[in-house]
Amino acid sequence: MPSLRTGDQNLIKEINKSIVFHMIKRKSPISRAQISKKTGLNKATVSTMVSELMEESFVYEIGTGQSSGGRKPVLLEFNHRAGFSIGIDLGVNYLLVLLTDLKNNIVEKIYKKLDTTEINFVLKEIYSSIELLIKKAPKSPYGIIGIGVGVPGYVDENEKLLFAPNLKWKDVDLKKKIEHRFHLPTTIINEANAGAHGEHLYGAGKNISNLVYVSVGIGIGTGIIINNQLFKGFTGLSGEMGHFTIDFNGTECSCGNRGCWELYASEHALLKAASQHKILEKNLVDPLEFLFDEAQKGNTEVLKILNSLGKYLGIGITNIINTLDPEVIIIGNHISKFKNWIIKPIENILQERVSIYRKSSPKISFSLLDNDSIALGANAFAISHFFLDKKLNHQMNSIYS
Ligand SMILES: [Zn+2]
Repeated sequence: MPSLRTGDQNLIKEINKSIVFHMIKRKSPISRAQISKKTGLNKATVSTMVSELMEESFVYEIGTGQSSGGRKPVLLEFNHRAGFSIGIDLGVNYLLVLLTDLKNNIVEKIYKKLDTTEINFVLKEIYSSIELLIKKAPKSPYGIIGIGVGVPGYVDENEKLLFAPNLKWKDVDLKKKIEHRFHLPTTIINEANAGAHGEHLYGAGKNISNLVYVSVGIGIGTGIIINNQLFKGFTGLSGEMGHFTIDFNGTECSCGNRGCWELYASEHALLKAASQHKILEKNLVDPLEFLFDEAQKGNTEVLKILNSLGKYLGIGITNIINTLDPEVIIIGNHISKFKNWIIKPIENILQERVSIYRKSSPKISFSLLDNDSIALGANAFAISHFFLDKKLNHQMNSIYS
């Protein structure tokens, strides 16, 4: 059956080419002989694969390396500027849009405060930001290869945004809208899942197999990594822990439940408490920045509110520990700038409430990617899909390491 054999050979070739590609991506500068030694592939196969990858502009040769006696070897480098990608973090009150190369290095960044969540206004802001970054992208063989968008809401298995409680959006097919307008493959992912992916690849979750990323913005979402894989649940809606109940008599939440965690421990809760205590001055451009400055000045009212916010965060984190027993919990999004004031109350609550029969409590970390983890994580999916399309993604787990 020749057709079957051909199929097998193609698959083996694809796998070998992926292996060579990822070795160059991770270990470059590297010589053909080193690739052969490290992968166990014979030199002729490595040479053929490298030639193909050079023709496709993914790899190029740079100077020569150290000789171990004979001729100096030519070194190979991954061409991370063979194309560029656009990563978007759509927040409830902001929009962050990044242009990156294929290694997810940031080339350009647009940050906008959003005064309204009205859909047509927000879409216009997204479109104009994408247009601007497409114009600004350096010339490259593949141009813009795709777009990844992190959104604050439920995303189903077809990447449709079903419901975003804090944006008050329902059934928005953002993927279709962006693809239709720009003719670029687009990936839509829940913001906390995107953040978890971003931190796992490049930030506080690097080399950690089991972690929970807690995105504390206007609401709270969580992204769960189990055994190095993003856990999305049966219908793609896992991680909505911002809506687990911490006060069964609590106030109503936009999700339909009462007393949800995010009502007590989010950026929204912080701003609400600050305005109830009449701390916020009127017409502030950035109330969070104002509170940060006040905390630094030692404003006792602000410190009290942050202490209480930290305690509430600790309550929810205790629930996460009891449910998933992760190695690390990463707190990300805007609240992480207050880490100096919220870490102690969080740790105190964990000490009081996490069972003493657990050998250890997980490490509580803060995002290492500033506010970029969601956009970088969403973007990583776009880049990953591009390589999959180019049949260079047989080693999904190691692709960005
Ligand atoms: Zn809720």
